[in-house]
Amino acid sequence: MPNDSRSAEILIAGGGVMGAALAYWITRLKPGCDVVIVERDPSFQRASSSLSASSIRQQFSCAVNVSLSRFGFEFLRDAATHLSLDGQAPELSLHADGYLYLAHAGQAMALEAAHAVQTGLGAEIALLDPAELGRRFPWLNTEDLALGALGLSGEGWFDGPALHRALLSKALAQGARRLTGEVVGVQRGASSEGKAAGGADAGAIQGVVLADGRSVPCDTLVIAAGAWSARLARMAGEPIAISASRRTVFVLSSPATLPGCPLLIDPEGFWLRPEGRLLLTGAPPIETEPDLPLEPDWRELDEAQWMRIAHRIPSLAAMRIERAWAGYYDMHDYDHNALIGPSVSVPGLWYLCGFSGHGMQHAPGAGLALAEWMMLGRPSTVDVTPLSPQRVALEQPLIELNVIG
Ligand SMILES: Cc1cc2nc3c(=O)[nH]c(=O)nc-3n(C[C@H](O)[C@H](O)[C@H](O)COP(=O)(O)OP(=O)(O)OC[C@H]3O[C@@H](n4cnc5c(N)ncnc54)[C@H](O)[C@@H]3O)c2cc1C
Repeated sequence: MPNDSRSAEILIAGGGVMGAALAYWITRLKPGCDVVIVERDPSFQRASSSLSASSIRQQFSCAVNVSLSRFGFEFLRDAATHLSLDGQAPELSLHADGYLYLAHAGQAMALEAAHAVQTGLGAEIALLDPAELGRRFPWLNTEDLALGALGLSGEGWFDGPALHRALLSKALAQGARRLTGEVVGVQRGASSEGKAAGGADAGAIQGVVLADGRSVPCDTLVIAAGAWSARLARMAGEPIAISASRRTVFVLSSPATLPGCPLLIDPEGFWLRPEGRLLLTGAPPIETEPDLPLEPDWRELDEAQWMRIAHRIPSLAAMRIERAWAGYYDMHDYDHNALIGPSVSVPGLWYLCGFSGHGMQHAPGAGLALAEWMMLGRPSTVDVTPLSPQRVALEQPLIELNVIG
């Protein structure tokens, strides 16, 4: 990776799927714009973009998340148009098998309310009673269910790391630069009243300092550092409430076949979906402190959890755990929704982070929205202004209820 630390027009801190998507869209909207992605780990070993379950749904409670997913699905379907390099289309393995949210009687009203938001935005989601659920999915135990919501289109799963690689490669091919290094400091102008020397806004972003001592001047800094974004914001003098929240994904095998199996969200909190001939599953974490070591918590698939899975899908009683991995949700503890847009107090500082476990599917739309905002003055394709940092300053949280696990 080249280590060219000359100044940048726009510096993106973090080269995961968000940083890559933003660089891709900026260099498309404004060819020749000098965009530099600063990434500390070119192997992306601990990045959420490498450890994601990479599924996509329209079943959110907030309208803006539904819109971002609808854009994301179209983008994935048209990946060959957007992301081909030298005539070679990326293989993103998009499976459009839907999500199936299941509800006990006490949860049915919330499911119906979210369904109204989703279908109001054009999402094709069917509400199914237990009899219909049993007809469509004969392997499913419906005895304690009141309702299910099944995505009929625009939902499923894909190869997230392949999307990340393709966005990054295309951004670089379009002229973005990358720099290996860890941002350890953010430089700002003097914070006196009025304009600082040279006409810059007082307290405005002036550059970043890297761990090896180099500094990279820039007047626009975008924080796209996933679960580590709060540290960068602190360096810039602005606290944000994003934490690294560990999630474990288990890989299961089973002789059972589950024809047409969607990504299933059980009323007891666990999720499960096919992955080729295997299955993936996860559940809400037992330990919830931030920054836990990136090791699977095997207790999350203990005997009781095993029973819950076998209760819902009796043929999985004979399943086997093949392996497990852990990654960090980039959790925005304020309201479980992303931060997209300009800082309210630091001129030149922008955010693209805090996607709270649903960022892989939102990267194409969120990257475009922020690029439009920065280059053209407003996000026009998807209006992400409800996700701007302004809501935090105004103490108006936009709570997303459908956060998985
Ligand atoms: C187990 C799991 C399951 C998930 N399932 C889904 C799902 O089904 N669907 C979905 O849409 N999303 C899912 N997500 C969430 C999704 O993967 C993330 O929201 C998304 O990948 C975030 O991308 P990012 O680029 O913001 O962060 P990351 O991919 O973490 O990238 C941030 C980058 O910033 C770099 N960085 C950090 N600090 C610095 C610094 N100081 N200097 C330089 N570089 C720095 C890091 O090295 C990292 O490469 C899941 C996540 C996990 C962990």
